[in-house]
Amino acid sequence: MSHVAFALVLALALGFFSYNAQRLVRYLRIGHDENRLNDIPRRAWNLLRIGIAQTKILRDPLAGPVHALVFWGFLVLQVGALEIIAQGLIPGFTYAKILPGPLYWLFLASQELTAAAVLAAVALLLYRRIVVKPRRLQGDGVHSGDAIFILSLIGALMVTLLVTSATDRALGVDHPAAVQPLSAALAQLFASVPHGAVQAIHHVSWWLHALLILTFLNYLPYSKHLHVIVSLPNTFLSNTSGPGTVGAMKKMDLEQETEVFGAADVTHLSWKNLLDGYSCTECGRCTSVCPANITGKALSPRKIVVNTRQRLLEVAPAIVGGDDVFGMPFIGAARGDAESRAALLDHKLLDNFITEEELWSCTSCRACVYECPVSIDQLEIINEMRRNLVLTESRFPEEVQPAFESLERNGSPWAFQPSERAQWAEGMDIPTMAELWERGERPDILFWVGCMGSFDDRAKKTTVAFARILQAAGIKFAILGQEETCNGDPARRMGNEYLYQMLAQQAIETLNRYEVFTIVTSCPHCFHQIGNEFPQFGGNYEVIHHSTYIERLLADGMVPLKHETGEKLVMAYHDSCYLGRYNDVYDAPREALKRALPVVQLVEAPRSRDKGLCCGAGGGRMWMEERVGQRINVERKKELLATGAEAVAVACPFCMTMLNDAGMKLESTVPVYDIAEVVAARIEARSGDGEARPSEGRSEAGE
Ligand code: SF4
Ligand code: SF4
Repeated sequence: MSHVAFALVLALALGFFSYNAQRLVRYLRIGHDENRLNDIPRRAWNLLRIGIAQTKILRDPLAGPVHALVFWGFLVLQVGALEIIAQGLIPGFTYAKILPGPLYWLFLASQELTAAAVLAAVALLLYRRIVVKPRRLQGDGVHSGDAIFILSLIGALMVTLLVTSATDRALGVDHPAAVQPLSAALAQLFASVPHGAVQAIHHVSWWLHALLILTFLNYLPYSKHLHVIVSLPNTFLSNTSGPGTVGAMKKMDLEQETEVFGAADVTHLSWKNLLDGYSCTECGRCTSVCPANITGKALSPRKIVVNTRQRLLEVAPAIVGGDDVFGMPFIGAARGDAESRAALLDHKLLDNFITEEELWSCTSCRACVYECPVSIDQLEIINEMRRNLVLTESRFPEEVQPAFESLERNGSPWAFQPSERAQWAEGMDIPTMAELWERGERPDILFWVGCMGSFDDRAKKTTVAFARILQAAGIKFAILGQEETCNGDPARRMGNEYLYQMLAQQAIETLNRYEVFTIVTSCPHCFHQIGNEFPQFGGNYEVIHHSTYIERLLADGMVPLKHETGEKLVMAYHDSCYLGRYNDVYDAPREALKRALPVVQLVEAPRSRDKGLCCGAGGGRMWMEERVGQRINVERKKELLATGAEAVAVACPFCMTMLNDAGMKLESTVPVYDIAEVVAARIEARSGDGEARPSEGRSEAGE
């Protein structure tokens, strides 16, 4: 009879779960289509690395291992859960009937030890949430009550599992105590309890355990713990990680007739952006590393994702029809005061859930994407919404307007004439591509200078330094001169895809006209754009960042360096986001510094390499005022100065400007050098030319 009852309960539970699963899948369908099944080997590798091995969770040295333990325990305990279900349906079933003795004992030991470990982990996590209350688990978009409920449910599952196997033993099941040490100890407690009572406890405990499993399963679709089910698929379907593919913005089809560009609501996002909402664990890792959030701005990447989920669950039932049987579709779903269908449809993600101010605070540093343990792409949602603000609504910070106009008129975000582009090269005997082409010659490399390197007085020193290195190494190179135009990256990051595509296509035409193959650039934004995003428009080139190129030249002994080592210098290298997190270039700049200055002592800020803090200039923030909170560049400069460094090295003209500016605000005399300047200052033939000399002290701070 009890097996019939269990079969009924199981059918009800699975039926209800299936209903909710199809409901949530139907909601995803209001997003637009997107192919996420390309590059299966890399996706499978991400699933193993990030999903199963939990590499991202483990980046947090404290909470990481505890969470990973719960996850791995969850996997191991599924084997036991299946036995319980089978026992409920088939009288007298146990794995002992199908597994050889030692294998069955291994199964018993795995369940027992895992249950004890998960119980301890749950106790720690509850303590952390209720007593310690870390900052990243507070704030917008956090449902602590839900987390406490589910942790208690997991704890109860472990307790009933242990009590069931202990009473099993007390009733005479005789497995070696070594494979069930905890149950064996617990069984002693039942030694003096009458047999009938133990039987009753066993029965109740088994049923409780089985019902808790089914309750857990059916609670998930109503909880932020839905991630338990969707985070592995989400990791598999995420933007595949790896240099050259991550961080590339989606190409917009501007030919297609559309009334709405970008995303103002969840219906304008892709189904994958919506799946990201289901996957969010609300762990706050993204927000805790967001430079905007750290410095007091309204932006929280967690809130962006949670709000996307809330809006989806608010509006999707009105679009696809039907609602949840309890009338509350999901934990945290915002029902607001929008009672009628019309009012729900009138709401939108933009403005009602996510504000313009939040969207413009983003520096596109990718720290959030990098940190998310379940491979959510918060930045993609931000970028799509910026596109909507600019292209559909013409809403953007007023200080951005001149940059857009200048890009359109002069092919540069600053109001300089194309004829001024190559003024830095006067007297240096550097040919342009046009000149070489006319002579029927080809260079080894094209030096793509970039707008900052061409027009900004401080960045021009880097440009000159790199050109000197190339000349000293005997590299045959050329520049485009006044034929170079902005590659459009600032326009794209600021949401102006029209302008971006115009500039990108123009640049690609120029490069293709000269049959350019290899490009070297000192700007990480140009490096990323030309190397990773130009292929969307048919521009395929080998693009190398100057840090990597310099490192190779030094390794090959091609740059004649001065012999004397100079005074010992403590230097901190600041990672550029577009070089590091976007393109995985961390070692080349550090190696170049060490090779150029054998006595350099490189020190690392607490946040460095893939955890590096942004300088605050990316995502078009270079052209926007920073009115709220502390300044990101000042925060970063303070960290770098706290290392005790006598000089700061960068490999990006944007970082150079931001850190110099911060230096002035902090009245610091610690200079900032580009790695090209460090190397150029050590070139033997140039020892007396008065260029930047990193080993000679601090006189160039705040330029
Ligand atoms: S990309 Fe950077 S600034 Fe933007 S939300 Fe993510 S962490 Fe914050
Ligand atoms: S988006 Fe990712 S990192 Fe951020 S709270 Fe959600 S799961 Fe955590």
